[in-house]
Amino acid sequence: MNLILFGPPAAGKGTQAKRLVEERGMVQLSTGDMLRAAISSGSELGERVKGIMARGDLVSDDIVIALIEERLPEAEAAGGAIFDGFPRTVAQAEALDRMLAGRGRRIDKVLRLKVDDAALTARIAKRFAEQGRPDDNPDSFGVRLDAYNRNTAPLLPYYEAQGKLTELDGMGSIDEVARAIDEALAG
Ligand code: ADP
Repeated sequence: MNLILFGPPAAGKGTQAKRLVEERGMVQLSTGDMLRAAISSGSELGERVKGIMARGDLVSDDIVIALIEERLPEAEAAGGAIFDGFPRTVAQAEALDRMLAGRGRRIDKVLRLKVDDAALTARIAKRFAEQGRPDDNPDSFGVRLDAYNRNTAPLLPYYEAQGKLTELDGMGSIDEVARAIDEALAG
């Protein structure tokens, strides 16, 4: 099964993806994690994306599509992928559909975690105070929310039209959201 966890920055996608990995043995494909790993390793790619990410802007479609493509065989071997933070643009979604179709696979479900802007902003302010992730500062977070509303939210009708979209309340506790996800996957 291939699953997309969909939602604005700080919606809790990463937290829920990690749980699904532990419980179901699927592979989490987080472009944000891959890009941060590239930055940590000091690679040329990392150098290229560092400033863009710190500002809160999206990196180019080509870069993230290539990162995902590289990892598809591994996800397939594990029985499926949880896409987290990808796709973020319609071009990325179309590329993902093409890449999966080329391997005889597809996206099965898209789970949207709905969290309102006030709650997101409060979560990020807390995370910035605790962890100091560079793009969690208030300015960059504003840019990230804008990018979500402008470039990523248009994917909702894209997946709705494919009949794959399930909307979930992402405002509850981690356990409540986990239960809602499990129900959506069982149904
Ligand atoms: P969050 O979901 O908390 O915003 P991520 O870790 O998913 O954080 O992403 C952090 C940053 O990495 C984004 O703001 C963007 O700069 C870059 N990024 C991650 N995934 C993508 C993607 N699919 N397309 C473009 N940029 C991406």
